[in-house]
Amino acid sequence: MFGKRFADIWFTLSGSSFPFTFENKNSSQELQLFSGDQSQYTYQVRTSPLQYVNNSHGLLLIFTDITELKRLQLKLENQAYYDELTQIYNRRAFFQHSKQAFDEAKKSASSFTLLLLDIDYFKKVNDTYGHYTGDQVLVHVVKACQSVLPKGALFARYGGEEFVLALKGYTSSEAEVLANQLRRHVETQPLRINEETISVTLSLGVAQAAKQENDTLDDLLNKADIALYAAKQNGRNQVRLYEEKKEMLKRT
Ligand code: GH3
Ligand code: MG
Ligand code: MG
Repeated sequence: MFGKRFADIWFTLSGSSFPFTFENKNSSQELQLFSGDQSQYTYQVRTSPLQYVNNSHGLLLIFTDITELKRLQLKLENQAYYDELTQIYNRRAFFQHSKQAFDEAKKSASSFTLLLLDIDYFKKVNDTYGHYTGDQVLVHVVKACQSVLPKGALFARYGGEEFVLALKGYTSSEAEVLANQLRRHVETQPLRINEETISVTLSLGVAQAAKQENDTLDDLLNKADIALYAAKQNGRNQVRLYEEKKEMLKRT
């Protein structure tokens, strides 16, 4: 398009202004465009100045369609951070985000509490209804929990039928209240599937980061696990708090 202004040409062709301005240098930017049927395309726009004896004579623009590359990139990012079945954070994403939240809480001397949730007798669900229905129960439990969880709670699938929750700014007794809400909600919201009604219950272990001690996130997870184990030992479908002296593990 020699001798013409790019902005005018773009406006004539597309009916709108070009979304960013070019400087007279090599650059690369991404551009989102919508086609007539509203499908979204991503282009990489590379620019190089055209020079003639050190005088700038315009710009070479190269548009590359990178829509598919972007789609794959997003899919990979999604697979790396989210659990495929339940679409909540996976263990890796949990560690990344909770480490940051944990460090922030330590710095600002605010409370930080972890909850471990494990579905009771889940093997029996699989044995009775099959693995596919077991999967649907997992999805159902996650949705039931999400409907109770406050904004900003970090909720992740920790393992098979075990979940973890990080609560910044919560003391263990505040987390205990929430844990019991989760427990009751899951208990009273059975999954109706294939004319079956499947109820499951949760056992939960709660541990608050100690203010003075140099506990790591792993230490705190261990404490929550000890509390969870106590909840299982004591008959399941209950919440237990970790207390420094094991014999003081409190039943709630
Ligand atoms: P409890 O926790 O009350 O002690 O008993 P449980 O039967 O839940 O105990 P356990 O942790 O030993 O068993 C968990 C079972 O969860 C074993 C495994 O087959 C099942 N499981 C783990 N991941 C998945 C999954 O992604 N889908 C399905 N359907 N089942 C799973
Ligand atoms: Mg279990
Ligand atoms: Mg388990």
